[in-house]
This record gives sequence, C-alpha cells and structure tokens, in this order.
Amino acid sequence: MIIVMQAGATEDQITQVRAELTQCGFDVHESGGPGKTLIVAVGGKNVDGRDFESLNGVGRVLQISSPYKLASRLINPEGTRVRVKNVEIGGAEIILMAGPCAVENQAQVETIARYVAQNGAKILRGGAFKPRTSPYSFQGLCEQGLKFLQRAAEQNGLLVVSEVMDASHIPMFLRYVDILQVGARNMQNFTLLKELGRVNKPVLLKRGPAASIEEFLLSAEYVLSGGNKQVILCERGIKTFETYMRNTLDISAIPALKQLSHLPVIADPSHGTGKRDSIVPMARAAIAAGADGLLIEVHHDPDSALCDGAQSLPPGHLFGLMKQLKTIASSIGRTIAQPVESATAAD
Ligand code: PEP
Ligand code: MN
Repeated sequence: MIIVMQAGATEDQITQVRAELTQCGFDVHESGGPGKTLIVAVGGKNVDGRDFESLNGVGRVLQISSPYKLASRLINPEGTRVRVKNVEIGGAEIILMAGPCAVENQAQVETIARYVAQNGAKILRGGAFKPRTSPYSFQGLCEQGLKFLQRAAEQNGLLVVSEVMDASHIPMFLRYVDILQVGARNMQNFTLLKELGRVNKPVLLKRGPAASIEEFLLSAEYVLSGGNKQVILCERGIKTFETYMRNTLDISAIPALKQLSHLPVIADPSHGTGKRDSIVPMARAAIAAGADGLLIEVHHDPDSALCDGAQSLPPGHLFGLMKQLKTIASSIGRTIAQPVESATAAD
C-alpha cells in the first residue's frame, strides 16, 4: 500500500508511520518529491491499511492491487527520470543509445563511437561479455572490451552501457560503465537482479523473449525492492509464432508499460527485428508509441561484424533516422539530439 502523507507532515510524523509499518512486518520504502512524501509499504500480513489512516500526518492510504508494487505507476504518477551524469532518461528528450553489438577491438569501437556521437547518441552501447546461443560463437573481449568501450566513450563525450551476465562481475562493471544492462536471457536471473538492487548505478533491464508484461515488471521489482530506484525498461522483441523476423517487437508493450509503471521505457529495434532494413521504421514506431529512448546496434562494416551484423545499422542510416525522429518527437512534445553539421547520410 501507499501511505500519502499530508503536505505539512513533520519528520517526526513520517518516522512514526515508518516505525508502525516496520513493526507490522512491512518493508518500507519512501517516494515522492519536495513537500509530498509517499511511504510505500510492501509485505505485511493480515493488516488492514485503514488502520494507518488515523495516524498523525497521514493524508490517505492507497492499495496497490498489482503484484508489483514499487514498479507501479501509482508510486510516481509523473514518471521517473533516471539521471546519469548529464543525461536524463524519461524526460522530454528522447535518448539514443547506440554502438556495436560486441566490442571487437579498440579501433572498431572508437570508429563507431565517433559516428554515433556525431549523429546525436548520448550513450555508447557494446557487449564485452556476450550471451551467445552457441558456445562456439564469439564470446566477447571480457574486461579488455570494457576498457576499450570506456576509452571510446570518453573520447567522444558519451556514457557507457554494457551487459553484465554474472553477479560476480558487478564490481568490475562498476569501474567501467555508467549503466548496467541485464540481457533478455537474464531477465529472470533473480540472483543477478537482487545484487543489482544493491548497486548505486542505473540498470537497463531487457524484456525476456517469452516474458509477459507482468513478469517483466516483477523483474524490475526485484531491483527496486533491493533499494536501487534507477531502472530503465527495454522492449526488445518477444518470441511469437512468426519466424520471418528474429523476434516480434512488441510496440504495444510501450504504452502498456508507460501506463502500468513510472519507469522509463526504451525500445531496441535491432534485436526486436533482427533485420537492418526494419530498424528505421520500427524505431520511428517506437518513438511514436511513447518510448523514452532507443537502443540501436550500429557497425561501420556490418557485413564483417563478429556479432549481429545483420541487425546493425550503418552509420549513414542513423543520420537519416535522427532527422525523421525530430519530426515525430516534436509532434508529441518531445525533443531529440540532432547530428552535428559535419555528419552526413553518406558517412
Ligand atoms: C544485446 O543488447 O547485446 C543483447 C544481447 O540483447 P538481448 O539481451 O535483448 O538479446
Ligand atoms: Mn546484439
């Protein structure tokens, strides 16, 4: 349940309510902004929420009927903005995260970082630990890859997002990345999610290929309930009966997630389609549907990419996409960074 404190509630009254809730067996979390305190109580058995209405300073008590609580829109109806250094995800500006599927070597990631920065990306993506279906496929450069990624990002004024596959790698990731990505295959790796709940950096959580929206939000709840409030949701396509595309990008999940949850939502049209030619139209659709950002695989030489070249956008295509997205964004009251003057569609 959510206990909405009165506007003038004192610190003592808030402390008192928290203490009563803890005594009744609830896990207590605080939310809200200046002058508006929300106390979110999760758990607690056989307690009637109305009992708390009479406590001093309490305005009203709301029940959260969904199985996820901290991920519910009720917690923050204005929507959460995840701030990472100078970048905000979930505000008016649509944020592009782009880069290679996998970091292959220093020169490759530096070339791509330069291209994506010139075209308006704010965050450089790149896998150093790759979850590959076959054990014989390229598995990533591991820590060396994170170092290359960090250097390329720094040179181009970008932040870094990369996938962490194993909880034991978290301390290493914290040295190199700004956002920790949980891959689709790990969406229900609850050990990993719990560990990420204790981390003080944002988590980009990708939807599992066969996960319902409720299961997706419950995975976010694992991170949130551990104390990490900085979660970004990513729709990246689900398995359906359709085999023409690698996955079916569930555009309808975007407004649904925005309605059900306060967390920012981005879309990944690369993994969502598996096809280079479908990335641009699906990126446009995702933004029109209300996504707060995009995660796109970009490669300067996609045909020789070690991983996911078929769904990587050549940099020149990014230029055209960003121009088109500006028109869509402004029609829905949003903004998006534009390519620098010197960038062209021919790059
Ligand atoms: C990725 O973004 O590099 C990736 C492996 O994506 P997903 O987990 O969505 O398959
Ligand atoms: Mn990939």
